[in-house]
Amino acid sequence: MRPCPDRDRQVPRTEHLPSRPTWDCAVCGHPWPCVNAKQELREQYDHFPAGLAIYMASSMYDAVEDLTAHGAPTPADLYERFLSWAP
Ligand SMILES: [Zn+2]
Repeated sequence: MRPCPDRDRQVPRTEHLPSRPTWDCAVCGHPWPCVNAKQELREQYDHFPAGLAIYMASSMYDAVEDLTAHGAPTPADLYERFLSWAP
């Protein structure tokens, strides 16, 4: 079966994925995206940087929903954490 290029672009090929609803890395336990996730995502999206920005933005919205689900204030560092490092 041939890999579908669109799917390839959208599904992160890293094992360092967020564990919801805490948004810590499922592998190393650091706040996601951890150092490894960032590196692997950058490599994967090297030729499609907009895809990384879209993926991280949608992840950030999911994280806001999860992290504020019980009335907690929105964490102030989310932009820094999710988007500032993406191209
Ligand atoms: Zn990790």
